[in-house]
Amino acid sequence: MSETQQFISLGLSDSLLSAIQAQGYTQPTPIQVKAIPAVLDGEDVMAAAQTGTGKTAAFVLPILQKLGNSKPVASGMVKVLILVPTRELAAQVLESVTTYGDNEKIKACAVFGGVNINPQLQRVHKGVDILVATPGRLQDLIDRRAVSLQSLEILVLDEADRMLDMGFIHAIRKILKLVPQRRQNLMFSATFSPEIRNLAKTICRNPVEVESAPRNSAVEIIHQQLFEVNKEDKSGVLRSLLQGTTDQALVFSRTKHGANKLTKILNKNNIMSSALHGNKSQKQRTAALDAFKQNRIQVLVATDIAARGIDIDLLPMVINYDLPHVPEDYVHRIGRTGRAGAQGRAISLVSSDERKQLKAIERLIKQSISRGLVAEIGSAQPV
Ligand code: AMP
Repeated sequence: MSETQQFISLGLSDSLLSAIQAQGYTQPTPIQVKAIPAVLDGEDVMAAAQTGTGKTAAFVLPILQKLGNSKPVASGMVKVLILVPTRELAAQVLESVTTYGDNEKIKACAVFGGVNINPQLQRVHKGVDILVATPGRLQDLIDRRAVSLQSLEILVLDEADRMLDMGFIHAIRKILKLVPQRRQNLMFSATFSPEIRNLAKTICRNPVEVESAPRNSAVEIIHQQLFEVNKEDKSGVLRSLLQGTTDQALVFSRTKHGANKLTKILNKNNIMSSALHGNKSQKQRTAALDAFKQNRIQVLVATDIAARGIDIDLLPMVINYDLPHVPEDYVHRIGRTGRAGAQGRAISLVSSDERKQLKAIERLIKQSISRGLVAEIGSAQPV
């Protein structure tokens, strides 16, 4: 199938097509072209797709269509379970379900930790067609007998690689014991490591394997640049970078403490910013993300886990204040920019103690990142 194939030929219903049109999407992304027909056919699917490829719609759209023809859900039951690694991703996937399902009669909700469980208990107890959940909170709701997975029809694991990284494997295995044998399984993961393949073997039956694009292709459409700087000069260089532009930037810090410190420095210098990390309450995280999305702040300083999966339309710039220890995280980080084909740039500030990490990253992305001159930051903006 060609990449330019229109949504209409993927077999989606008119009501979904009008929801898609309302979003302004003119053509499906490659992962949507490959995954949507397979999901509609009832196949198990294993998809290698990073955030930014349109992967959420690739499973949400056909799921909505399948639910359109089925009976109302019984109380305390769930028809489709979408497991995700983080609260932010749960909220975001639910938002996609609500947006694309605007014309459908479906009950959907998201459950995740860090917030009061009672409203979630009441909500799931009534029965939900689509439940988006982080593994821990789901287990809690199951233990309290608020929800049952006995009549589950479709199981989705989104960002499966990150779920393993975050240590959710035991929780996933426990949940797998509670779902019916006969069900459809969809697994989405940025990478398919041997570990993920092993997990897939225990979950999927003869899955159709789809890949969004050659590995790390996001890297090719993003303009990457690095500045070699002394550790103690990093915050000054960051300030110059940000003061020379009105563009919004997502800045990555390796530690929560570092993110807080940096946010303080930036705000002191009139660069409006907020921090997003695991020590912040859910309310604080949502407030920071909303402020950033509504352009009320220029900078969001985030740690890898907190930033994972957050969807910000057309983010122009990602800055690595510290390089990540895991080279794959570099690809995840810079994938926040240049989303769905838009141009983006990624800038890294690299100190001498980070040379080893830099080498590992350049080996992974199979290219050497262009070096910029710090002296030129103030006058000519790196493009
Ligand atoms: P995802 O990979 O699911 O995180 O999606 C990344 C972004 O692409 C989201 O902001 C979607 O709204 C957007 N998107 C999804 N499908 C399409 C499409 N067919 N055309 C344009 N944008 C899309």
